[in-house]
This record gives sequence, structure tokens and C-alpha cells, in this order.
Amino acid sequence: MTIAEERCNKDGARFTDLRRKVFEILLMQGRPMGAYAILEQLRDAGLSSQPPVAYRALEFLIAHDLAHKVERLNAFVACVNPGQTHAPAFMICRLCDGVAETHAEPARGALGATARAAGFQIEKTMVEAIGVCPSCVDVKERPDQ
Ligand SMILES: [Zn+2]
Ligand SMILES: [Zn+2]
Repeated sequence: MTIAEERCNKDGARFTDLRRKVFEILLMQGRPMGAYAILEQLRDAGLSSQPPVAYRALEFLIAHDLAHKVERLNAFVACVNPGQTHAPAFMICRLCDGVAETHAEPARGALGATARAAGFQIEKTMVEAIGVCPSCVDVKERPDQ
């Protein structure tokens, strides 16, 4: 939370109550949340639950590297390394929808080389890998009884 505040101060942005609350909700959840689930929690907290307001707060968090959108799940998740500009990569479990964030710089690797060769300038990459997380691997390998 302090890191988030520092980042906002640095960017000259206001970390309003609503933005703070949305960030808190994502942190508490610890896993991706759809916009509707976030709206519900805002309503429970007695804050504005107007979709445009919540979306603007989410856009704000994303713009300041405090949260990310997981496109595949159409959901939002708090950043594990908030406040630093980075290219997140997500490992998404197809069994439990759990998501782990890691960092990748695909624009510097083979993709970057291919793009340069094609004269394409990469501005943003989204890496989302689908698979099975460690806890689901255990379950899967346990024989049914
Ligand atoms: Zn991140
Ligand atoms: Zn899993």
C-alpha cells in the first residue's frame, strides 16, 4: 500500500479512496477478479459501484503498474511487484484459474528480432501461458478413490 502511494506521488497522481479501495480488494483477493466481483465489493463497502467509476479506477491502477488485466480471464489482478514499470507475463492454471505473475521481456527476445525484421515496432506485449499450476498437478496425479 505504501509502495502504491509512493508510486502515485511520483507520478503526480492522486490515490483517491476509491482507487485505494479497488487496489485493496485486488490485494485481498490475491487472484484475478472480474469487474462484477469488484463492483459487488465496492457496493458492500458503501462506495460508488457505478461500472464507469470502477473501470476508471482499474484503468488508473493498470496505468500506474499497480494492477494488470489478464485478458484471457477478462479479469484484474494486483501486481506482485507494484510500482515498477514492467512487462508482466502470466501463467494461468486452466484447472483453477489461478494466476502467477512473472516478468518477461519478449520484445527483447526472438519476438523482438522478428518484429524488427518486419519493420514492426512493439509497444506492448501480453504474455499469458496456459497450463496447470503446482497445486493442481498434485491433485491431477493423485489416483481417484
Ligand atoms: Zn506486475
Ligand atoms: Zn491450478
